[in-house]
Amino acid sequence: MEITFLGTSSGVPTRTRNVSSVALRLPQRKEIWLFDCGEATQHQLLRSDLRTSQIRRIFISHMHGDHIFGLMGLLASCGLAGTVSQIDVYGPATLDRYIASCLRWSAMRLPYKLQVHTVEPGEVFSDGEFTVTCRLLQHRVPAFGYRVTESDRPGRFHVEKAQALGIPFGPLYGQLKQGKTITLEDGRTFDGRDFCDPPQRGRSMVYCTDTVFCESAVELAQQADVLIHEATFSHQEAELAFARLHSTSTMAAQVAAFAQVKLLFLTHFSARYAPGNPLQVEDLLAEAQAIFPNTRLARDFLHYEIRRGEEPPQDNPTIVAAPAKGDELINRGEEKTVAIAQETSPAIAINRATRQQMQQKLGIDAVTANAILERRRQQKFTCLEELERLYPQVAWDTLNVHF
Ligand SMILES: [Zn+2]
Ligand SMILES: [Zn+2]
Repeated sequence: MEITFLGTSSGVPTRTRNVSSVALRLPQRKEIWLFDCGEATQHQLLRSDLRTSQIRRIFISHMHGDHIFGLMGLLASCGLAGTVSQIDVYGPATLDRYIASCLRWSAMRLPYKLQVHTVEPGEVFSDGEFTVTCRLLQHRVPAFGYRVTESDRPGRFHVEKAQALGIPFGPLYGQLKQGKTITLEDGRTFDGRDFCDPPQRGRSMVYCTDTVFCESAVELAQQADVLIHEATFSHQEAELAFARLHSTSTMAAQVAAFAQVKLLFLTHFSARYAPGNPLQVEDLLAEAQAIFPNTRLARDFLHYEIRRGEEPPQDNPTIVAAPAKGDELINRGEEKTVAIAQETSPAIAINRATRQQMQQKLGIDAVTANAILERRRQQKFTCLEELERLYPQVAWDTLNVHF
């Protein structure tokens, strides 16, 4: 599974970053799956080493222009190439009508089969080798996060071991391969699992944009190899992020930490962080790494291969102890977060003092405390019982939480 970023800017292109698109190349089947298709994505493809003729599926996160204005041009060019037989496009309910209107009013005819699928949370595609699922994110229009999961592969069968033990060749080998226990005519018994390496875990990639911090992104990204998450704004602009339902670098890092992913890519940067401006994307990276160290910045044409690897670590150490720098950053953003929470929902009475109490009394770190606050701000909790269920380690009754 090879990821190539084709566009990493939000809203408008800059000199160095085009608008959203990510290509996932599956070399074993000579296919490319695209995630979003901002304007000029086909130009980016031409400048990359990817072959447009291999595009087989296109997943659209939402209908904002910076994610779809390149779609019709790309579909038209695929038709002119003459080598495409079918493209499946997946996206929100209005995508179907958008494509139909464009085709109609520009009198465009496609010489291949174009299948448009309206997605709903759950499974979107599955063919035995790959499964694609999606979840509804939290944005100004319906937006979906996608997850591609590869099936696990059985471990290697050590045929030489079976031969050395004198197990007769034939159907018995098939049973051993499947991990079954066999008994020979001479009475000896063998457990197939002793002849096979452990199953190879399938790889996974998750694409979450556009969204403010949301629970469904955390659920979608559970233990993924790679999470690509938008980070439109710096932590300092949390207010803007909440108002426009985009993420800050720290929100993306929190999703990564809670979902225990292996690697986080930040993307969809606001043009305000372009080179020459006071804050740069490197500052966003530092903010995110303070919470989730294994974070990288996406840039156009960045290529990353997800290799088959071992089981992900059971515990993510980054969640246990946030570095001092992370605490500092979170504290700085905290006042704003609380101010917005109180402004938009006066019923929410979790305040700064409460968070400090939470941290001190319960020995939880600032990342956890901040995440609770953030979820609370988004009215993810409706009652104390729910908080108690989600965070059993917190002595809620001593904290004077009002709803
Ligand atoms: Zn966008
Ligand atoms: Zn958007």
